[in-house]
Order: sequence, then C-alpha cells, then structure tokens
Amino acid sequence: MTNDNQNQELTDGFHLVIDALKANDIDTIFGLVGIPITDLCRLAQAEGMRFIGFRHEQNAGNAAAIAGYMTQKPGICMTVSAPGFLNGLTALANATVNCFPMILISGSSEREIVDLQQGDYEEMDQLNAAKPYAKAAYRINHAEDIGIGIARAIRAAVSGRPGGVYLDLPAQLLSQTLSVAEAKKSIFKVIDPVPRQIPAADAVERALNVLKGAKRPLILLGKGAAYAQADADIKALIEQSGIPYLPMSMAKGLLPDDHPQTASPARSFVLAEADTVLLIGARLNWLLAHGKGKTWGKEPKKFIQIDIQANEVDSNVQIAAPLIGDIGSCVGELLKGIASVPKPSAEWISAINERKDKNMAKMAETLAKDVTPMNFHSALRVIRDVVKKNPDINLVNEGANTLDYCRSIVNMFKPRKRFDSGTWGIMGIGMGYSIGAAVTSGLPVIAVEGDSAFGFSGMELETICRYNLPITTVIFNNNGVYRGTDVNPTGGADVAPTVFVKNARYDKMMEAFGGIGYNVTTPQELEKALTEAIAAGKPALINAVIDETAGTESGRLTNLNPASTATKK
Ligand code: ADP
Ligand code: MG
Repeated sequence: MTNDNQNQELTDGFHLVIDALKANDIDTIFGLVGIPITDLCRLAQAEGMRFIGFRHEQNAGNAAAIAGYMTQKPGICMTVSAPGFLNGLTALANATVNCFPMILISGSSEREIVDLQQGDYEEMDQLNAAKPYAKAAYRINHAEDIGIGIARAIRAAVSGRPGGVYLDLPAQLLSQTLSVAEAKKSIFKVIDPVPRQIPAADAVERALNVLKGAKRPLILLGKGAAYAQADADIKALIEQSGIPYLPMSMAKGLLPDDHPQTASPARSFVLAEADTVLLIGARLNWLLAHGKGKTWGKEPKKFIQIDIQANEVDSNVQIAAPLIGDIGSCVGELLKGIASVPKPSAEWISAINERKDKNMAKMAETLAKDVTPMNFHSALRVIRDVVKKNPDINLVNEGANTLDYCRSIVNMFKPRKRFDSGTWGIMGIGMGYSIGAAVTSGLPVIAVEGDSAFGFSGMELETICRYNLPITTVIFNNNGVYRGTDVNPTGGADVAPTVFVKNARYDKMMEAFGGIGYNVTTPQELEKALTEAIAAGKPALINAVIDETAGTESGRLTNLNPASTATKK
C-alpha cells in the first residue's frame, strides 16, 4: 500500500497482527471466521500460516489449548466478537484452570458504542468479561502497539504458571495504517519467554532432608511435570531414588506405564500408606481428595511440593518443604543430592508390589471376559492393546465411565500423549483436543468418547474430514449419560433425563462427511476396525455398542453428585 501524499509505504493492523505472530514462530491459528476477523484469517493463510477453521469456537479454543500444552508455545484461537468470543471463553477458562498456555484473540465492536451501550452489532465489553477467567487480558487500541501487545500476551501465557490470555482487537484497529518503516520497528520476538526459575539452595536442602526422613516415600507426577518437558531428569530422579511413583492422568506415559516403579495399580494403597509425598507439578485439588481425609490414610503426610506458582503451596494442607521454581531446575537440583537419600525400604516396596500383583491379576480376569454386548472393560482391552502396539498415538479421552475406566486400563508409553477432561472435569474437549493434537504432532489420534461427551463437539467431524486428519473417534455408545436404562417414572412420553435415542449410529455421521464409519458390537470387530482405521490414517469413527446397563451413575464421582433423599414425594 502507498500513501500518495507522503509517498510512504503503509501497512495496516491486519498485517501487523500476522507479522507479530510470525515473528514469534507461531505458525498455526485455530479459529472461526466472521465479522470483523475474516480478512485477518485469510491474510494469515496467505502469509503462510496454517489456519484451521472450526464449526464452533469452543472447539477451536480447546485445540489451541492442547497445542499450547504440547509445545510450550501459546496456542492461538481467533474468534468474532461477543457470541463467538463467549463460545471461545469456555476454552480459555479451561486452559487457565489446567495451566495450558493459549491466547484467545477476538475481534470486538466500536469502543465508543460499546461503552455508551448504544447497541452495536455483537456489542459486548469483552475485555472485562474475559478478566475473571483468564490469566491476563489486554486490548490493543493503536496499530503501533500491536507488536508490544502480542509480546505481552505471549509472555503472560507461557511464563511462570502457564494459562489462558485474552487479547481484544477492536475492528477499527485492524484497518489502522502505519508506515512500513515504523511498523518494522514495532514488531519483535520475545526474548526468553519461558525463563528458567532456579529454586533457592536452602529450599532444595529442606526438601532433601524431608526425603531423607521418609519411611514410605512416594512421588506424584502431575501434568505440570509432563508440560515441563524435563522427561530425562524426572526419569533419572525416580530411578536413582528408587521411590515408587504415581502419575496423574495426563502424566501417564512420562515414564512408561509398565515401569517397575509405578504404583498405579496400587493407587489407593500408596496414597493411604505413604508417609512422605513429593508432588511434582500436581495440585492437591479434588483429583487428589485435597490432600486429606480417608484417601490419605490415618497419619498426616509430609509433603514436598515442586511448583512454579508460590501460592499453590498450602492451598489445602500444610506443605513441609515447598520447592518453588521450574520443574526442570528443581528436579535437576534434587538430582544432585539424591545419592544422599537412603533407598526406600524393601518392606515398603514389597508391600506395594504385593498389592500391584493382586490388583493386576484381578483386572486381567475382568478384562479377559468376552461379554455380549461389550462392556467398558472388553472394549478398553482392545484400545489398550492397540495403543501398546502404537505408542506414538495420541489418546484423547472424555466421558464418565469411559473416562474413569480408560484412564486405569489403557497404559501410555510416551510423554504428553494423553489428553483428557483434566482439572475441571470438563465435557466437550474431545474433537477440539483431537484436532489440536493431530495438527500439532502430525501423528494419529484415537479419541475414546462417551456418547454424551462426544455430543458437545460432534459437529467437528466435518472439520476432521475437511483437513483429512488421522483421527479415529471411538464412541462408547451405551444409549445415554452414565447408562441408557433410566425410565421416566411418570410413564409420560418423554424419556428420562439421562437417556438418548436407542441404537444411534454415530458412524453414519462420519460417512456424511466422507470419512470412514464402522459399527461394531464385539471386541474382535472393534480391534479389526481400529487397526484398519489407524493404518488408513484417515478420518474414521467407530460406533462401539456398549451394554446400556454397564455404566455407573457419575462414573467414579458418585460422591460429587448429590442424590435426593427426601422422604416427602
Ligand atoms: P494434575 O492435575 O496432573 O495433578 P495439575 O494441573 O493439578 O496437575 O498441576 C500442575 C501444576 O504444575 C500447577 O500447579 C502448575 O503451577 C505447575 N506447573 C506447570 N508448569 C510448570 C513448570 N514448568 N514448572 C513448575 N511447575 C509447573
Ligand atoms: Mg454413555
């Protein structure tokens, strides 16, 4: 563009946004076009970025979030104003809760009209709406600030505890012009966006001393440990210390799930019996019964907690030895002193192994049963075997029973390959995470989905087919939420609140968009379909018919779902 008056080359806000993202090695945008960002998305593609267009912004946001988790670079989600922004906001909030770095970039309407509430098209004060659900929220008002605005968003998303950042781009900003010379000066690459944070020497010593006093030590790996990409040092710490470890669900595969030191098959036993627990990137939230109560046994535990966020410490119970810093640096420092920590007693190790053997034998027996129709176990036995043969595969998992059983039955062998409902226990991440994982890794994905969970993002099957992604969605179809057997107690025509259409054929949805559909009723059929689908490397959906009586209410969260006990009807 040239400006005749000054005979000076001009650029505009559209170009500056793309230039600033590219200057920071961001190569993919997950989004959904519309006013006022359509041209921005077109330009991104024209300038060599990958634009993955979705059917609903929440799924685009979930794809961005999981891309951020996999790469330590913020995933980018781009949406239109008000409703599109709000659709994306659920994903932004989920990313923040899970400590995934992402940036939600939304176009917004004229500030003058929004602020006076004069009724603009898609009017909304998006910046303030985003604030409570984001790690940070910014608005860029002038084209010359685009470089600094994107830099701030990137740094906020990935430094310290990662999280979701909202970036507001008013429509008029995108068309503002700036001289090319000035523009060039305003764009830069963020230096050291994820600075190392070295723990204090006395905190390291305190942590080692607590470990030295342990009789029954345990290491707990959370998804922060997986995120940190300090895989070799974490493995070394576990193996050199000889301490048994438990992975949280998304930390599965950080060490292979069949590692001799895993305590997963004896989870309840070790949580109750350990006297000292080293938390590495895991929070003592509801997923760990808040660090107290029956789950954690009779005696109070001594906790050592490695985390980058200082105020995570003492969130639920007292932490004897906080170790604040990035996980790579903290584990590295512990490693230097680990030789001075006595090995766990043979008594502790053999007690765990005894439990493990017993529980694994029991599980093997359950898994071996071929029942018709399939139940969760016989279907998951197949998934387990296929994942074992294909350790590079990404596994996305959501549902109630489908999530609980899959987490404990399907072993993972490589880090950052399991993506699930996470800290919030959110439903609806399935297709978004699958697309994000496939696009980011270029490797196949299996999405193991409850039929209800799938419904939240099912329309993205079209997206999967449009980009020809190697995603195989397996629907555990039991005709409903939890179970398909509830009845309407009034005898009325409406089915019970938990029940879906009986014998639905989700595979036909896939066929509608040109993907491959399978309908399977036995483990043998499931194995054949799954193996074939993965080998084809094309979009596929397997409708796996599961016994509609097999599930339990709320999966393993029965205690969180209050049931009415009123005596008055
Ligand atoms: P899980 O649910 O698997 O137990 P959480 O999400 O509860 O895991 O915990 C992850 C923790 O890891 C968070 O408290 C977060 O602050 C921390 N974390 C994330 N990245 C890093 C890092 N690079 N270094 C240190 N701590 C980190
Ligand atoms: Mg179901």
